[in-house]
Amino acid sequence: KQQYGITEALKTLGITESIGGTSTGGDWMLSDNFIESVSPVDGELIAKVSITTKEQYEQTIAKAEEAFAFWRDLPAPKRGEVVRQFGVRLRELKEPLGKLVSYEMGKSFQEGLGEVQEMIDICDFAVGLSRQLHGLTIKSERPDHHMQEQWHPLGITGIISAFNFPVAVWSWNTALAWAAGNVCVWKPSEKTPLTGVACQNLIAEVLKENDMPEGISCVINGDYTVGEWMTNDQRVPLISATGSIRMGKIVGQTVAARLGKSILELGGNNAMIVTPDADLKMTLIGAVFGSVGTAAQRCTSTRRLIVHEDIYDDLVGKIKNAYSQIKIGNPLDENNHVGPLIDSKAVEAYQNAIEEAKKEGGKVLIEGGVLSGEGYESGCYVKPALIEADNSFKIVQEETFAPILYVMKYSGGVENAIALQNGVKQGLSSAIMTNNMREAHYFLSAKGSDCGIANVNIGTSGAEIGGAFGGEKETGGGRESGSDAWKAYMRRQTNTLNYGTSLPLAQGIKFDI
Ligand code: NAD
Repeated sequence: KQQYGITEALKTLGITESIGGTSTGGDWMLSDNFIESVSPVDGELIAKVSITTKEQYEQTIAKAEEAFAFWRDLPAPKRGEVVRQFGVRLRELKEPLGKLVSYEMGKSFQEGLGEVQEMIDICDFAVGLSRQLHGLTIKSERPDHHMQEQWHPLGITGIISAFNFPVAVWSWNTALAWAAGNVCVWKPSEKTPLTGVACQNLIAEVLKENDMPEGISCVINGDYTVGEWMTNDQRVPLISATGSIRMGKIVGQTVAARLGKSILELGGNNAMIVTPDADLKMTLIGAVFGSVGTAAQRCTSTRRLIVHEDIYDDLVGKIKNAYSQIKIGNPLDENNHVGPLIDSKAVEAYQNAIEEAKKEGGKVLIEGGVLSGEGYESGCYVKPALIEADNSFKIVQEETFAPILYVMKYSGGVENAIALQNGVKQGLSSAIMTNNMREAHYFLSAKGSDCGIANVNIGTSGAEIGGAFGGEKETGGGRESGSDAWKAYMRRQTNTLNYGTSLPLAQGIKFDI
């Protein structure tokens, strides 16, 4: 049973009408300019958050640097203990935070809760990790020598995040970065600043309760100009940026120009292949959830469906039928499947993409359109569209962050479907639906999917925190979350230690004096 309405949720998370947008863990710092957070659910102004000034940015970085000197000295399992307590706080406040995510971003309440669950899961993962930041020992070629690898923290991790996973992406980065011994400065998306404020309030409390200094968790707010201060800043050795390919190209080059490190998690153009041996019932659920869930505003949303000609008419018929039953409306009402897009610009991009697809020869199977009238006052609710298209269409080659599913036929063997799937510039998530063992293994082989995520009999959308998350090609190559993604937040040091009484040189080089 739900305990919190929106008003109670906001109050519990410390969201007031007008909030300072800069924090190092103490009082929020105010400025004269604000971002207004308007809910795509009902078009209401939720609250406004002040934009970080250059001076406040400098203060933040100075505090973070100070905190790093303390935090890196704290034994890693003690850092893990703070992360554990943060996970406990998130468990306690899962409902209000999930609700705020849903209200500010527009995803369903269930998915809002799911995002907070991901935060809890990654905290658990990071707690374990805090006792497992293992290096190797290596046999030395020299007598009486030890060789080992150590992993040390980097310093300040700058996190730039997108609107669509406003809290989970931050936690994937920050939980690992903290366990690793880094301090974090986060610039949330300017489209979802309030979830950022809420998260910072929760972690600031936990840090205070543990007598930790300010600066371990910091938040700055604003648009790309505030982000650019960080990407250009030598004092921020690692930038983890999640968002569009356009943004990633700029951020990647800026950070590389100062030889900093970056983790780039950018757009996808994800396809599901359906072969003649697929279980069509499972396919239907995977394809429909993947293409309409979160109003297709997931980086892993299914954009293309590549179906064998023998089952094409049957499957497309079933999808059309399923699409006609989708309920679109307020995402906080659990009867609805699909909520709004984030803002009017996203609605425009959706409309333009449909027009483009038609111009290029696409055949509309299910007409899209913007909804109006009662319950749709924000103007951000759109109907999922289904378009028969060619993989070579310019618009199909792009990621449109809206519910448009392009369906296309293939004939012959699975290699033809894989060629279509790989025939785009992005490389995030991919899926094959088949009960044919050869097809499944071919898809997972080196000549199969070229994506960072390749699923068999599961849709493209969503992932578990235990695996490394990210993609290839224009998706940016970064990996976050599970597996050994933690290594990106640390610097590797090779140590050679001589416990003998002579000084032999490597490669047997003689140097007598
Ligand atoms: P966006 O690129 O517009 O913005 C993302 C963030 O980057 C924002 O915080 C923004 O202020 C900042 N930014 C933009 N330009 C910048 C610059 N020049 N310098 C510094 N910071 C800058 O993306 P969005 O619309 O918020 O999110 C949607 C996109 O994110 C989609 O393309 C989606 O696929 C992608 N995404 C990818 C992943 C992944 O893990 N691969 C996850 C979530 C979202």
